[in-house]
Amino acid sequence: MLAAGMLRRALAVDPQRPDVHEQLFRRTGRAPRGAAAEVEPAALAEAHPYDPWARLRAGRAERDAGRPEAAVEHWRWALFTADLDPVSAQAAFLELARRAEDARGMSQVPVHLFADESVRAHAGWRFRLRLALRAVSDALDPILSTALVPASIQGFDAEDAGAGLSELTAAFQRRGRPDPPRGMLVLLTERHAPARGRSRKLGEAQFLGRRLIARLEEDEILSRVLAHELLHLYGAVHLSERVDSLMNPTGGEWVIRAPNAAILKQTRKRRFGPGGLERNVLSFVDLDATIDAYLAVIRANLALRRAGIQEVLDDVSTPRARAQRLRTVAQLDPHLGDVCSFTARLLWRAQRGPEAVRLFDTAAALYGPRSPEGRAARAQADALLQQLRRSAPAPP
Ligand SMILES: [Zn+2]
Repeated sequence: MLAAGMLRRALAVDPQRPDVHEQLFRRTGRAPRGAAAEVEPAALAEAHPYDPWARLRAGRAERDAGRPEAAVEHWRWALFTADLDPVSAQAAFLELARRAEDARGMSQVPVHLFADESVRAHAGWRFRLRLALRAVSDALDPILSTALVPASIQGFDAEDAGAGLSELTAAFQRRGRPDPPRGMLVLLTERHAPARGRSRKLGEAQFLGRRLIARLEEDEILSRVLAHELLHLYGAVHLSERVDSLMNPTGGEWVIRAPNAAILKQTRKRRFGPGGLERNVLSFVDLDATIDAYLAVIRANLALRRAGIQEVLDDVSTPRARAQRLRTVAQLDPHLGDVCSFTARLLWRAQRGPEAVRLFDTAAALYGPRSPEGRAARAQADALLQQLRRSAPAPP
């Protein structure tokens, strides 16, 4: 057992050590709530550094003493371990938001973190997930202005599942507990991707939904895969493999290009509660600006896809090589069907009916006309077309 002083010195050297945080947390724990009156707030936070309640009080004391930087530091710590006392962390967030100079204001999103066995095998895994969430929240802050705070940290049993992302997600869904009603659901694994097939993917997210799964590398804290998938929840899309960007699934870039910046500017205030797209996304975006942002991306993406397919057709090597390349081109963006059907919904709301119908048609083609999603998009296109015909003025 290391003394708390030694642990603090270790963290001063490397603040990203989850195992050391865990040990220090076990030694310090929660501040006794009754002791508040006698103990100096700063001393209480020093003795119980991971307790959001102690951090909240210490921050207020620093603010009252005219030391705003120290106050902010305490409140940020309260958010780091928000799952340990969500009420105090919420109060700390409000203090931070009140201080924010940026007139656009800050948002906060609760995140439920779920780890499979491979992640839980490491000492201090809960702190590892808190560190990973804080790192990605800080990295995306310039574009989202949103504090992603841990709401709960749990394990899920995937021992018998394969290493493919859909298998892991299915194992998560079999855990026999309902999903929390509010917040993002972030599933994390450290399992290596299978060597072959579609399951080699490093991450997967529901387009504008609330659940994602990401593979972390061993001991990784700041994860590009996590950041990439998170932005899919905010409606960001793949651009071109030829453009360096965070929204390119390959490569190591973190930059966010103009088309995605335009989308995120609209969606960054979205919510993660019950009620689907209608209540969580559509009520928070400017309809015309969002339509413009997505139409630009769709046009570029479809043009690129056509260019890619032309390249394949021009390829004079074997049919097998052509088929292989065609598959690669077609897999450019698995979300493009979702993007088209979402934009079609926006167009319909904006009373641009004929365009909505055409875009649902495009979505059906992208999904594949025989897939369940393709059929749903087709049915939407037909239904809207019927409505348009009914509402059109009768011929004289
Ligand atoms: Zn992606």
